[in-house]
Amino acid sequence: MGIVVQKYGGSSVSDASAIKRVARRIVEAKKAGNDVVVAVSAMGDSTDELLDLASQVSPLPPARELDMLLTSGERISMALVAMAISDLGFSARSFTGSQAGVITDSVHGKAKIIDVTPGRISDALGDGHIVIVAGFQGVSADTKEITTLGRGGTDTTAVALAAALEAEVCEIYTDVDGVFTADPRIVPAARKLDRVTYEEMLELAACGAKILHLRCVEYARNHNIPIHVRSSFSQLEGTRVSGSIDDLPVHTQGAPGPEEEPGMEQAIIAGVAHDRSEAKVTVVGVPDKVGEAARLFEALANAQINLDMIVQNVSAAATNLTDISFTLPRTDGQTAMAALAALQSVVGFDSLLYDDKIGKVSLIGAGMRSHPGVTAKFFTALADAGVNIGMISTSEIRISVVVDEDDVDAAVAATHTAFDLDASEVEAVVYGGSGR
Ligand code: ADP
Ligand code: ASP
Ligand code: MG
Repeated sequence: MGIVVQKYGGSSVSDASAIKRVARRIVEAKKAGNDVVVAVSAMGDSTDELLDLASQVSPLPPARELDMLLTSGERISMALVAMAISDLGFSARSFTGSQAGVITDSVHGKAKIIDVTPGRISDALGDGHIVIVAGFQGVSADTKEITTLGRGGTDTTAVALAAALEAEVCEIYTDVDGVFTADPRIVPAARKLDRVTYEEMLELAACGAKILHLRCVEYARNHNIPIHVRSSFSQLEGTRVSGSIDDLPVHTQGAPGPEEEPGMEQAIIAGVAHDRSEAKVTVVGVPDKVGEAARLFEALANAQINLDMIVQNVSAAATNLTDISFTLPRTDGQTAMAALAALQSVVGFDSLLYDDKIGKVSLIGAGMRSHPGVTAKFFTALADAGVNIGMISTSEIRISVVVDEDDVDAAVAATHTAFDLDASEVEAVVYGGSGR
């Protein structure tokens, strides 16, 4: 008998009737002869509601207490899902992340899973129970404190459980039918991908396609766990995330190969992602000498801040001063500004600027490695849509631009159309969720 790991996101367990529907789906998997382990998210938008509540009580709540608060959301849904399953005549046991053996580092709010010791899960499965695990949380090996894995972290809980239990499949159930060529909430003509490689999915997730948590894709790639992203509201096949861009048909890496079967061609572009969660910081007038940039970025690293794009201007000859801009999660904005301000007299820069009215639009696809002209086409599409580009960064399979926050939707739609990604018939269905 194989082990199946399933994950249900907040929109799939948003109220009592949704929880009962999900319970029936879980029981189906059990009836099919599998051992079933389920990771659940907090109901609906309840994590956001808890965050709002915390900010009303304290503008900068202690990270430890915030984690204590937020983990309660997943605890509510795990118990309710287990109750709904028992109401269907099957036995279920719910476990917190800590009880389930999800061991993390000690960074509150964005802890990394370092190990999973699923003894209690295996015992419960051995006793015939369906196991429900509270997603998005673990316990620190060092501090023994309860931690959370970052927004969207239940995806990572599911993949980590699948790896530890050597599950046959990890199914991520959500409110759309799979991974699409763009967020269906912005581009109704987006197309569902049948399959996407780990590398492309990593870039999509890193660039804001919140359909999968970034760490979940990293974890899946490192442990070679195939993920099936699908809707909990339909029976349709979803998107398989598996394989590497290096295994794609040869002609995506060079000239078309005559030996390849028709239909095997990998699309040049996997999708367009957008992200409205970042802010831009500019350090104005940094003395252009060895070690200053290192000093600034070391302070940010010590504050546990992950940076995204970094741009340093050529210094003006007259002043020998340069500006350094970078983007980072908005949630880290205040911490970063405080860390940098503390260095102003030491480094001797002029001032700090903060802009959170930005958005990032990214074009991702393994095929762009071997197709010249992708960048030109992307920038032309943005220009035709009247969108101004603020910053640019690239990787082997990605081009990202920073634009005005208000231009994001238009930029995504124009890019999607320019690369012929619009579907001619079926519109992408969004079954639930607020998109928050
Ligand atoms: P869940 O509550 O199931 O975790 P999320 O809200 O975290 O769901 O993620 C699902 C949402 O991700 C979709 O409703 C959709 O708006 C958004 N999304 C963004 N980019 C994509 C994409 N490329 N394909 C599919 N969905 C996407
Ligand atoms: N409840 C958490 C969140 O809203 C974790 C998750 O849903 O995966 O981010
Ligand atoms: Mg999610």
